[in-house]
Amino acid sequence: MAFKLYNSLSRRTEAFEPADGETVRMYSCGPTVYNYVHIGNLRTFAFQDILRRHLRQSGWKLRHVMNVTDVEDKIIAAAARKGVPIGDYTRQFVDAFFEDCRLLRLERPDEVPAATDHIPEMITLVKRIERAGHTYRNAGSTYFRIAGWERYGRLSRLEASGIKAGARVDADEYDKEDARDFVLWKAARDGEPSWQSPFGPGRPGWHLECSAMAMAYLGETFDIHTGGVDLQFPHHENEIAQSESATGRPFVRFWVHAEHLLVDGKKMAKSMGNFYTLRDLLDQGWSPDAIRYLLVATPYRKQLNFTFDGLRGAAKAIERLRNFGRRLDGTFAAPHSEASTGMFEAALAQYRSALDDDLNTAGALGAVFEYIRSAHAAMDQGAFGPRNAAEGRRLLAEFDAVFDVMEPASLERLASERIDELVRERAAARKARDFARADAIRNSLAESGVALRDTPNGTEWHYMD
Ligand code: AMP
Ligand code: ZN
Repeated sequence: MAFKLYNSLSRRTEAFEPADGETVRMYSCGPTVYNYVHIGNLRTFAFQDILRRHLRQSGWKLRHVMNVTDVEDKIIAAAARKGVPIGDYTRQFVDAFFEDCRLLRLERPDEVPAATDHIPEMITLVKRIERAGHTYRNAGSTYFRIAGWERYGRLSRLEASGIKAGARVDADEYDKEDARDFVLWKAARDGEPSWQSPFGPGRPGWHLECSAMAMAYLGETFDIHTGGVDLQFPHHENEIAQSESATGRPFVRFWVHAEHLLVDGKKMAKSMGNFYTLRDLLDQGWSPDAIRYLLVATPYRKQLNFTFDGLRGAAKAIERLRNFGRRLDGTFAAPHSEASTGMFEAALAQYRSALDDDLNTAGALGAVFEYIRSAHAAMDQGAFGPRNAAEGRRLLAEFDAVFDVMEPASLERLASERIDELVRERAAARKARDFARADAIRNSLAESGVALRDTPNGTEWHYMD
């Protein structure tokens, strides 16, 4: 069965294949690096990882681009508060983001362009939109005029008359003719980073960044554009308006949006203060693979209510998978069982058709666990031979190429940064003569297999064994 994907633009699940029949061109809205991302953001990135892997598993080549928004109002304000250039301020969060991705085994997109490296492409795009007659200037800024773009609202299905200014309206956007219009190029202000342009000194609007970078790397029309549902309006609607008014061509074939991660029924958001970062959960002792499992086990178009029970369930599910994997690595003396082969074939078919059905991860997991249950039973009854074990390993390998939770997170991968941090905390505790705390840290590190050695040049650590 061919891969079917829900397209927010048509509001239908459609058969997907890349336009050129070979390489999927895909763009994902990346993080705005003014802070650490939370696990709600990471749910959207984890969904993208499943999509990436499934596309490749389906035999397509993939060219995947994800931007990093590294110039934006919140970044500028935060860097100014610290008195550092925006590049110095964002670097730590860019690094932290990719570290989170690594821990969650999110494959790195082929290109991860930063907005500040693509200002010329953005300026060129504004010029094209201007030539097409869809802009106006006011007080040094350049805006997109929505009234002149009839197709506005096609993605979000909003009637033009009902459209209000978007969620991310900036305080300095008060010079617009119409509240719905959005800024393409923002006038420079004292003390803020700015670039020269034919429209005067300034900086790009957020929406412009994505249109310009997506088209620079993927062409004027490409296959898939992803993001969280909150980006559908106004961000993606504005991306369409900018790109299509400039090129006169369809911008994106499939728009794919991930639903939110919720806490107590509310969207997890920095502004709500109801968020956990990945680091928060790791510090509480949760493993990154359980978090990955939790984030991807619920199909992406369903809201995911985050709970610690859910996380416990995810950790248990991984244990069951790994136990089964270990059992499959044993020896099988029983004769081959056709019935067990039948079980395997049914499970594999069900697993594949679930993922092909708009990435129904819950259905895919269901197929794997049902197989595991019956395979354990067959082994107990002596109806599982060496070839059956090979089939079981094949199913797990195909599953793990997408879900990637079988390999335990090694201590080294998980902890080296955290160990450095604890070593520093212990040094501080000793300096403050809080020896109980210092000892507690040494003991807990020892329990995790890390040995410390105090030297005249400070504390060294190494993994035991
Ligand atoms: P931002 O850095 O705010 O632009 O968000 C990065 C990505 O995370 C975007 O695709 C958002 O749509 C997505 N996102 C934000 N909050 C949540 C949430 N609670 N659940 C899932 N995705 C989210
Ligand atoms: Zn974007």
